[in-house]
Amino acid sequence: PIVELSKKTKKSYEFFEQSKEVMPGGVTANIKYFAPYPIVMEKANGAYVTDLDGNVYIDYLLSYGALMLGHGDTRINEAVIEQLDKNGTNLFGTPHSLEIKMGKKIKEHYPSIELLRYTNSGTEATQLALRLAAAYTGKNKIAKFEGHYHGGYDQVLLSVNPSLKDAGDAKNPKAVMESKGMDTFHQTNTIILPFNDFKACEKILRANKDEIGALVLEPAQGGFMLAEKDFVHQLRDLTEQLGIVFIFDEVKTGYRLALGGAQQLFNVKPDLTTLGKVVGGGYPIGIVGGKKEIMMESAPTIAADVFDTSQSKNSSAKDVLFHSGTYNGHPTILAAGLRTIEILEKELDRVILLTDELKMRLEKLFKSYNIPMKAVGTGSIFSVILTEKDKILNYRDLQKTDLTTRKEIDFYLLAEGIYTKPLNRYSLSTAHTMKEVEMTIFAYEKVLKRLYGG
Ligand code: PMP
Repeated sequence: PIVELSKKTKKSYEFFEQSKEVMPGGVTANIKYFAPYPIVMEKANGAYVTDLDGNVYIDYLLSYGALMLGHGDTRINEAVIEQLDKNGTNLFGTPHSLEIKMGKKIKEHYPSIELLRYTNSGTEATQLALRLAAAYTGKNKIAKFEGHYHGGYDQVLLSVNPSLKDAGDAKNPKAVMESKGMDTFHQTNTIILPFNDFKACEKILRANKDEIGALVLEPAQGGFMLAEKDFVHQLRDLTEQLGIVFIFDEVKTGYRLALGGAQQLFNVKPDLTTLGKVVGGGYPIGIVGGKKEIMMESAPTIAADVFDTSQSKNSSAKDVLFHSGTYNGHPTILAAGLRTIEILEKELDRVILLTDELKMRLEKLFKSYNIPMKAVGTGSIFSVILTEKDKILNYRDLQKTDLTTRKEIDFYLLAEGIYTKPLNRYSLSTAHTMKEVEMTIFAYEKVLKRLYGG
């Protein structure tokens, strides 16, 4: 399938050769690369992207789930232009009204959020959440799950995608570093837990309860592999008992699984929540919110003497948590994000129904070819998993599914105009309709016919 795709994407190849002269490996984020070379997109509209050679694809990558309204939604553009017309970027470097408007909207959908802070990315959001937890509990270690991603910094870049031979015991996974150049300190400071195995988690958490200040999880791993409901509630109870701050990283699931994210589906209140992607309407953002008493760790103190110069450092005694950022709460981005959320209040249900339809039709199609496949996911995101198992519960289960065939299918689908990065998930948007679902099923049918005959 790669040869076939290469014939259609010659310009992408040529462009990529030039990219290598500018950026290491030709990319500015490692995730943008896939072998033999990434397809380079030039245009986008609604549910479609067009590459340099003029090939048109239905976009299911949607910039890793960020584009909940598809590409170029005029309603977002209008909100952005309205903001720009007022005062340019409106970047005053002071508090402003959209921070409050957006905050109120988020609080409406996420009752666990009493106060919040804006950041520039999901990465920064989880970083701040973990610092808040450490400040609040006085405990510096963190616990995270094998296979879960929370950003690219040392503290959490462990056992995200480890090779199974390095990963240790399934019930007590090793902390495997995911990058060269990392501080090895985090291999002991970050404790790795097995997803959806409460007994194993309980044992590890109890044994380290005096040192672990935060437990962070993706309530649906990779956005699609939903935690078991009991598991989440058991963790909620246990973390409360052990004085561990329970953090839901909803950067991917927020406004995608439901308006109120996975926590709405579970009917659970985490202590802290991180959001990103969708809430920026296609622009960079992150949000951290949660319990007032934890969030207040970051509130600047009012010094008795306003001319005390040490105040400029926020705290002379370092008794306030540091959080800052030139672009935090960027008005243009909040305008785009707020408009997106307002639209989703009316349209998310339809996207979810459409996703259910696509999942059902795909499963039916694979069944007619006698290929065991599950469309695993909830809300507006899912992944095509080739497995005979009834349930895929964690990273190791996923690694044992037929990823080789999945990848082969993905490359054939690229040549048929169905776009997601090979092995990636399918995210839908308000721009997707039944027409795209039909086209996708048609493309899949063509590919399965080629691979399996009939
Ligand atoms: N947490 C989760 C669950 C994510 O999926 C991501 C991004 N894929 C991040 C955090 C990091 O977000 P960003 O890429 O905006 O830094």
